[in-house]
Amino acid sequence: MEATANPLCRAHVLKFIEETRVVSESVLQVNNITPYHVTKFYREQIAKSGYYDQLKYIVEPSVEEFESPGTLDTSGEHDNTVVPGLQHKYPQTGLLLVTERCGSYCRYCFRKRIVGKASDEIAPDFDRVAKYIARHPEMTNVLLSGGDPFVLSTAKLNKILDHLLPINHLSSIRFGTKMLAYEPRRFEDSALPALFQRIHEAGKSPIIVTHFDHVGEISSDAEHEVRSLRSQGVQFLNQAVLLAKVNDDPKILAATFAKCHEIGVRPYYLFQARPVKGASHFQVTLGRGIEIARGVNQRLSGIEKTFKYIMSHYSGKIEILDLGHDGRVYMRYHQSKVPEKIGRIFSRPYVGAACWLDDLPEQ
Ligand code: SF4
Repeated sequence: MEATANPLCRAHVLKFIEETRVVSESVLQVNNITPYHVTKFYREQIAKSGYYDQLKYIVEPSVEEFESPGTLDTSGEHDNTVVPGLQHKYPQTGLLLVTERCGSYCRYCFRKRIVGKASDEIAPDFDRVAKYIARHPEMTNVLLSGGDPFVLSTAKLNKILDHLLPINHLSSIRFGTKMLAYEPRRFEDSALPALFQRIHEAGKSPIIVTHFDHVGEISSDAEHEVRSLRSQGVQFLNQAVLLAKVNDDPKILAATFAKCHEIGVRPYYLFQARPVKGASHFQVTLGRGIEIARGVNQRLSGIEKTFKYIMSHYSGKIEILDLGHDGRVYMRYHQSKVPEKIGRIFSRPYVGAACWLDDLPEQ
């Protein structure tokens, strides 16, 4: 790295998967390139997993990030923010952004606009958040996200809970985290059992939503921590993202979901990757995604196939069901701001390269 007077002109020598490039700070900023950071644990895990050639794409930068078209807020997070840091898109759920940091930075992240940089979208005032939630009895659960809540200290998480636990109509507190893949030893913290106990004592369920995209990410340490947390009454769900070159293979995803099931983590969402600027090269077409989801279901037992293939769209969470013989993609709203839409099946004509609802013609 070479120092110059103008920080935006500072040059960085960066190692991409394809080549090493010299890139100025301003080019990194204009292209919204997420900082590079990977934990030692994850680097070692993917090296010994036998899947390095797939898993490297999760954390190693690619030159494709400069070319991938898209936008930075594909599901309308800004429009659904009701007080700084709190989104209220669906009546029952509050989404609370508690940090902009993560254990490592996923190259496909849909919150590239936030992670790894100072962001004003992180909740600055939990008292204000709690006042909003208290006025909304329809909200039954809050999801702590970001960034990754488990990069925060347990003391800081407890301070956030001080504001949430007195609210009677919240029945569960969810934590969305990839730390069980990136740094599972975070969960050895001797202060954590008391945090989960507090949630129980407040009459609420603690739920951890893990983020395993690939069976090679589920280390023996992660398995050990999940089993230990389950014995403390923590419920587990998993969300994964369907990623080109990483897990766009029914055998891999079936193995991932079967492993999750084995350790007591319920596969819950398989997300269609979003058309995010700098990350849309991870998208697979809807046609291929449907084929993969079908292949996964063919390989799993009835009790293991608990996942939904979901597009988290501006208009709601849309389950992608099938591509019919009539050439139409069949879908159903799993969640929507418009309650009448939920559960209704609808279809659009399929066009070959479509990766998102907006790529499908209306009629
Ligand atoms: S852990 Fe989640 S929020 Fe953080 S970079 Fe990965 S996908 Fe984004």
